[in-house]
Amino acid sequence: MSDPHLDVWHRELASRAREFGERHLRAIAPAEDDPAGRCAEVVAQLAEAGLLQAVVPPRFGSADARSIAVMRERLAYYSLAAESVFAAHGHAAHLLAAGGSEGQRARWLPALAAGTSLGALAVAEPEAGADVGGIRTTAVSESGRWRLDGEKTWVTAAARTRLVIVLARSDAGTTGTQGLSLFLVDGEASDLTWRPFETTAALPVADLRLDGVPGALLGKPGAGAAAVESVLTLFRPGAAAAACGLAARGRDEAVRHALARRQFGRALAAFQATKIAIADMTAELLAAQRLATHAAWLVDQGAKDAARQAAAARVFATEAAARVTDLALRVHGSAGLVRGSTVERLLREARALRLREGTNELLKMDLAQSIVEESR
Ligand SMILES: Cc1cc2nc3c(=O)[nH]c(=O)nc-3n(C[C@H](O)[C@H](O)[C@H](O)COP(=O)(O)OP(=O)(O)OC[C@H]3O[C@@H](n4cnc5c(N)ncnc54)[C@H](O)[C@@H]3O)c2cc1C
Repeated sequence: MSDPHLDVWHRELASRAREFGERHLRAIAPAEDDPAGRCAEVVAQLAEAGLLQAVVPPRFGSADARSIAVMRERLAYYSLAAESVFAAHGHAAHLLAAGGSEGQRARWLPALAAGTSLGALAVAEPEAGADVGGIRTTAVSESGRWRLDGEKTWVTAAARTRLVIVLARSDAGTTGTQGLSLFLVDGEASDLTWRPFETTAALPVADLRLDGVPGALLGKPGAGAAAVESVLTLFRPGAAAAACGLAARGRDEAVRHALARRQFGRALAAFQATKIAIADMTAELLAAQRLATHAAWLVDQGAKDAARQAAAARVFATEAAARVTDLALRVHGSAGLVRGSTVERLLREARALRLREGTNELLKMDLAQSIVEESR
């Protein structure tokens, strides 16, 4: 890859991630049963390959926005389930590193870097999706010990996830995003119930019920929503890059099929309509990749405009992934509709990209608002 925003070590990381994908993910990605169980194995393999550190902050790892992006792009090329657990693990590790006490960091970060403990982030609730301010999970302090009650949903987590970072209302007198704090919760606590559920794409997600589960305050009380937003901004170019990985797989599958399938005595690739589809997919993909790596570079530079560019990259890349996978399906004809074909899976996965880590609609509203404010 000759992207001026990537350094030599990013390119090396990309090549190691590609080797990892070929070795560990290509064969297992089509299986859709037990995504949480399979992802736990993948995290252990990522740790063994020395790739998990790319999503754990310095001292224990080496994460910058570009390393995260490079890894997420390569993992998503093979398996969005594996990529989503990698990202969720990173969200937890970064929140812990940013807000944790010395003791909390020492207790968890080495285990997260080694992959012996897995991390997850629980923000969404049945009644609070895009609207984080609607969170109802409560955290109450009794004799200096916090206890959490409530329901979380759509928690991306592998089996054996040990560290769940939960956003809860710690100040009953507040509304909206004020009064929300982060808590470290033991994923194996007895008063925590995991309920994995199936989605159109086989992703490892679960509902979580908290019945007076003990939690340790992470960071300052009331600063939870801002901390989550700051980590999501760091990861947003990576969310764009994951969409690029998925789109690249769709384009590659389309080219492979267009060369192999013959109609009217010629390969599909010989027809002008197929060539135009391949060109359109490639143009979309290249544009999305450039936006993603540029946004990651801006985040790494701490540029003033970084959050806005990352949001734009994420919106464009995830919508491009939907267009590219749809074109890839067109090139496949009816073969693309068969359950179990790679492009059919990609089309189902592409929809999830526009929802997780903040929906495209909310990102667009924030983006537009900042432009309007600036232009007043
Ligand atoms: C694959 C996947 C993994 C996820 N992983 C996690 C995780 O690990 N942890 C976690 O906490 N959450 C996770 N989520 C949840 C995700 O953050 C929520 O799905 C997201 O916040 C949207 O919430 P919702 O689905 O309830 O949609 P809703 O809030 O019900 O919104 C429905 C639709 O209305 C739009 N909408 C809502 N409000 C507005 C508005 N004011 N203006 C314009 N449009 C609006 C939304 O954009 C969306 O299109 C995951 C979701 C998915 C799909």
